[in-house]
Amino acid sequence: MSSPTRLPLIAGNWKMNTTVAEAVTLVRAMRTELERITGVEQVVCPPFVSLDAVHRELEASPIQVGAQDVFWEDKGAYTGEISPVMLAPLCRYVIIGHSERRQYFGETDEIVNRKLRASLQHRLSPIMCVGETLAEREAGQTDLIIERQVRGGLAGLAACPGLVIAYEPIWAIGTGRASSGADAEAVIRRIRAAVADLLGEPVAQITRILYGGSVTSANVAEFLRYPEIDGGLVGGASLRSDEFVAIVWSTEIAKHSTTI
Ligand code: PEP
Repeated sequence: MSSPTRLPLIAGNWKMNTTVAEAVTLVRAMRTELERITGVEQVVCPPFVSLDAVHRELEASPIQVGAQDVFWEDKGAYTGEISPVMLAPLCRYVIIGHSERRQYFGETDEIVNRKLRASLQHRLSPIMCVGETLAEREAGQTDLIIERQVRGGLAGLAACPGLVIAYEPIWAIGTGRASSGADAEAVIRRIRAAVADLLGEPVAQITRILYGGSVTSANVAEFLRYPEIDGGLVGGASLRSDEFVAIVWSTEIAKHSTTI
């Protein structure tokens, strides 16, 4: 069921896949079908080098573009980095703190916080990712880890317009082993409570919180029947146009007809 205050959102994280030509082909393959679905906000997040081409393809479309990362400074001697000033004309969203960035590039909650602040300054909507490892889950530390990541990421912020949070248990990413809907919903409730504590209840009620981790068209409805789960961050399955379209259709149906 859909929340009256939160438009469902499905974002596709293409990760380090697709050349510029492949990115354009992919977006062309899904665009017409996606545009028929009006009750779900849709975002595609191609690699940096394809942002401009995908942005041009979608200029007259309600489908939004997102980046997969951002640096916190506007410009300067930071070889290889991309600033929010560069991204702002090309996209509305930016993924921050994905577990692959935390795991392979040493991103800490403090770095996530800096990137989040920089994005907000340039009117980019952050999709902040949080999630526990399998060892942390098995040690009963899920709530502790998630709270720490949410509080660290949002530290010192008085407001966070356009904030989206993605709960992505690391053991579920790219493994084919998704969380259960009930487990994801329980964690997402805690995330919303932490947002309420930090930024106030009205902000918590409009903040969209997604589930991510091995989402497919076959399992997405299991998550979206929970009113607390506002959509999905989709990795592998977002690289196939038919599968991504099917996920968005399932979201439309689940959010606009099902009750739990
Ligand atoms: C992701 O990378 O954010 C993700 C959820 O990947 P996948 O859907 O492939 O598990």
